[in-house]
Amino acid sequence: MRTQRQVVDYSLQKRAVLRDVHNGRIGTLEVCDASPYLKSAARFHGEPTDERCPVCRRDNLTLVHYIYGDELKQSAGQARKLAELPVLAMTLREFQVFVVEVCQSCAWNHLIEQYSLGRDALTTDELDRGGAVASSSAGRHRETGSLPHRWEGRG
Ligand SMILES: [Zn+2]
Repeated sequence: MRTQRQVVDYSLQKRAVLRDVHNGRIGTLEVCDASPYLKSAARFHGEPTDERCPVCRRDNLTLVHYIYGDELKQSAGQARKLAELPVLAMTLREFQVFVVEVCQSCAWNHLIEQYSLGRDALTTDELDRGGAVASSSAGRHRETGSLPHRWEGRG
């Protein structure tokens, strides 16, 4: 999706955790702790991948997309199918997507990516072209602050 903005990549953190797991510095039980919510989200809303679980190598990873944002109201924090995101991006100004990889076999889970979607992404380019900087939308995004590397999962 080329409308993604403010992409934050968590692959470095993930690699660090996996290195510690393979060194034996972290027990697999500590990282294979997907909550029942996260596991059912993976089952019902997850996006299957061809990538093997880096911990147990028994199953392929599933990507779960969680959405956050004021405009979502009660839907904030829910998992959505990947196919639903472009529809939401057409109707909402801005919302955040958190992508979590989950192994449904051993319960390994890690936040891998975060980005913003929404109509603001489309209008910003047009405003830039026209030279008119909209003070209302410029710099409107909020910092989401410090997120835990480990995904707690909810909803
Ligand atoms: Zn696994």
